[in-house]
Amino acid sequence: MAKKLKEQRENNFFDDVVKYFDKAAKFVNADKGILEQIKYCNSVYRVKFPVRVGDKVEVIEAYRVEHSHHKTPTKGGIRYSEHVNQDEVMALAALMTYKCAIVDVPFGGAKGGIKINPRSYTPEVLERVTRRYTTELVKKNFIGPGIDVPAPDYGTGEREMAWIADTFQTFYPLETDALGCVTGKPIGQGGIRGRREATGLGIFYGVRHALTYKEDCKKWGMEPGIEGKRIVVQGLGNVGFHAAKFFFEAGAIIVGIAEYNSAVYSENGINPVELQKWFREKGTLDGFKGTKSFKTPAEALEYSCDILVPAALENQIHIDNAKNIRAKLIAEGANGPVTPEAEAILTKKGVIIIPDIYLNAGGVTVSYFEWLKNLSHVRFGRMEKRFQGAVNTRIVNNIERATGKKITDAEKQAIIEGPDEIALVYSGLEETMINAYDVIREAYWNTKGIEDMRTAAFVVALRKIVESYSLLGIFP
Ligand code: GLU
Repeated sequence: MAKKLKEQRENNFFDDVVKYFDKAAKFVNADKGILEQIKYCNSVYRVKFPVRVGDKVEVIEAYRVEHSHHKTPTKGGIRYSEHVNQDEVMALAALMTYKCAIVDVPFGGAKGGIKINPRSYTPEVLERVTRRYTTELVKKNFIGPGIDVPAPDYGTGEREMAWIADTFQTFYPLETDALGCVTGKPIGQGGIRGRREATGLGIFYGVRHALTYKEDCKKWGMEPGIEGKRIVVQGLGNVGFHAAKFFFEAGAIIVGIAEYNSAVYSENGINPVELQKWFREKGTLDGFKGTKSFKTPAEALEYSCDILVPAALENQIHIDNAKNIRAKLIAEGANGPVTPEAEAILTKKGVIIIPDIYLNAGGVTVSYFEWLKNLSHVRFGRMEKRFQGAVNTRIVNNIERATGKKITDAEKQAIIEGPDEIALVYSGLEETMINAYDVIREAYWNTKGIEDMRTAAFVVALRKIVESYSLLGIFP
């Protein structure tokens, strides 16, 4: 019975997002028609194309969905996974719309997916698949710096984004802004410093900020601060790894880590950098020094901890395991890791969920910075770093002269240094995550009838999107 329910759910991810939407829409004062327009996906492109694999031809199934054009370009990652289907891509595209609105990234939401297991193909075949997919997007006008801008997601990374950019440039050799057709590129090909770790860092900034509110922590039965918090992370990919690394560096104890094929725990804490090295060499987490293995990866989710960070795929915490979750706070690194049914159970139990559409928005935020860099054709900090350094030097020298006090060379260096690209990206991301949390928090605590932070986040997103429609003059 339970298994059947889970299978039924598999194809209902978009319905889940609609449920969240409907729950939040009650708190938004807007025309019904506009809400309907926002709710559903504007454009769904499904394509099948042939790719040569060895001496055979394989037919590849792929998607790109643009959920909302209330702002353009549309934006969202491309995932490579055997589980890709239209429903999933639609749901993920919709989440992108709300995510962008929450962090004030001026894009509509989109998502792409190719139904393949990237682990079972050589890099040569993956390159062929990626270039052909990009060509199909070009043919139908589903990609471009002002149209729709893909990025990495589950199963893709900088390498795939470089292939996409290169293919696009082949079609538009005279387009000066062509590099802005995709984000998450390698630095040498128009990428930006800090994009790789952006989603994990955003999760860290978000949770750290949430835990600065003493009164909230008290209600959640937690001490403020990250130090000493016992954390379980599901997924040691780009998102989970960096989130774990930033929490670890801030003094949290990573008591459990799960991957798709194995999971380990240790009350003494796990160093995620060393564990990742082990995983890359051995292909499993099992056997890592000082740890014990869980019987199944799913068991890690039920381990007792302060903070659980599901950072792999959707539908991980569902109606069957929700009651067994022992975390006080769930920090959603993945998109849609908790089903609505599970959320109802967890909320009743008093578990706090910081929702995906806010918490994992660090990736798209820094993608936005990368896109701006591509359109402006200049690295952040290039013009002002030395200038700001000189101004700071004059200020410090004058203070020294006026006060007669000398500061050490090391201190001086730290004060005068002008900002470079990485410093600007980190501070822009930190500012974004803090501001967005405070707006959601305000709606969460101060709106009668809102019981969970996800509904508050949806309300914030919907209000902003509705406002941008009214600014278009559709309404007086
Ligand atoms: N795939 C990421 C997400 O789900 C990043 C999207 C982007 O950078 O456009 O948020």
